[in-house]
Amino acid sequence: MTGPAELSLAGLTVRDERDGDLFRDRDEHAYLFDPAAGGGPLAGPEAQYQARGFGVTNTTYHAARVLNLAARLLDRPLPPLVIRIGTHSVPGRAWSGGHYRLPGEASPPEPEPPARSGEIHLGTGRRFIERPDPGSSRYFHAPAHNAAIIYHEVGHHICRHTADFRANRLRPPLDQHNGKVALDEGTADFLTAVLLGTPDIYGWHRGNIPPWDQRRRRLAARWTTACLRPGRGQAHANGTVWASALWTAHERVRQADGAGITRTLLTAMTRFGSRGTDVAEEQQRRSLFAELLRELLAADPASARVVAGAMADHGVLPYGDNGELRVRMQTRAASPDARTPLPEASQEAARWPGAAIRP
Ligand SMILES: [Zn+2]
Repeated sequence: MTGPAELSLAGLTVRDERDGDLFRDRDEHAYLFDPAAGGGPLAGPEAQYQARGFGVTNTTYHAARVLNLAARLLDRPLPPLVIRIGTHSVPGRAWSGGHYRLPGEASPPEPEPPARSGEIHLGTGRRFIERPDPGSSRYFHAPAHNAAIIYHEVGHHICRHTADFRANRLRPPLDQHNGKVALDEGTADFLTAVLLGTPDIYGWHRGNIPPWDQRRRRLAARWTTACLRPGRGQAHANGTVWASALWTAHERVRQADGAGITRTLLTAMTRFGSRGTDVAEEQQRRSLFAELLRELLAADPASARVVAGAMADHGVLPYGDNGELRVRMQTRAASPDARTPLPEASQEAARWPGAAIRP
């Protein structure tokens, strides 16, 4: 650890930016901390020190895990990432989430421009985790203690430097678009599930929300394009549809050859984000499920048949805009044969016999 509460590895810096008093006059070489049940404002100074130190090392460990996976599968390291813990925490209005930021307009606004290659900000936590079982012990929900939040936010960094859903590479470096589309949120959720090894990605801190509720963000088979909600502010909910479809494809490919689709997805995202030159056109194109699916099918002809079938089960087809995919699936859900397997699934699978896919 360098300085009061900062840890640096190649390409990754994690820093707790709250006042450094707790870390003053401590052993600089301490790496082993106690989670101290998340610490929090009600804990004593020693528990807060332990919990904050644990937050820095825990965040570094999990962020490095995702970054290493991405570097291995992409065959190149991603641009450097800075993670700041305790930003945007004004007294009395603590924050329990995380976000990924690039220089440019943002809400809430950034007091100083984030690093050009991207920054993650984690809040300090606001409340204790509500557990469904009343007997379980209390844990203060510090985002830096939550692997799912860390994986999800690093997922946005991977998206920015591969699929680049907002075509930020075509924009000025200090005027980046900080908005997220459903594909961005869904891909981040999918990568979280891969790293955690479970589709119930938010089961720890949202365990009191029933698994069938979309806010639980469980990557379940029931989320199809029929659940897509038009309009702004729906990226997380709509992303669940894309994440669930990816997870189904991942599981089926894994059963077939043991590998899953993570490498194929990252290859597809890199190609997806390197096409086109017009910002507005690319922002539109890169928000379409069908477009990214086409790239995914093209990236690995060997798995295309299985992936196309799995995606079609969720209503994601390699043609049509997101609205058309929604209407198609909603019409189907309302029809009397809604419980029989989708004809599109087998038709789509048959349509992708590997060799016929564009290079
Ligand atoms: Zn997100």
